[in-house]
Amino acid sequence: MKHLTHTGSLAGQPICGADRQPDGDYAHAAYAPLKNAVFREKCCPECLRVWIDSYDEDEAKPDWAIGADYVR
Ligand SMILES: [Zn+2]
Repeated sequence: MKHLTHTGSLAGQPICGADRQPDGDYAHAAYAPLKNAVFREKCCPECLRVWIDSYDEDEAKPDWAIGADYVR
């Protein structure tokens, strides 16, 4: 499973709060091809949820997030 990670001061840390593992699979959330459903299926659902939660209320969520299981 692929975790999405922070950029910036926390670069490389999974955004879901999981510990980074030496043999883990990671992608920078900001640059990840999240529009791609095949890619998303490989991603940690908690990371996807955190990522979507990070959108401001007045910010349009991406189409793929509308109605998705991992979005509150
Ligand atoms: Zn994760």
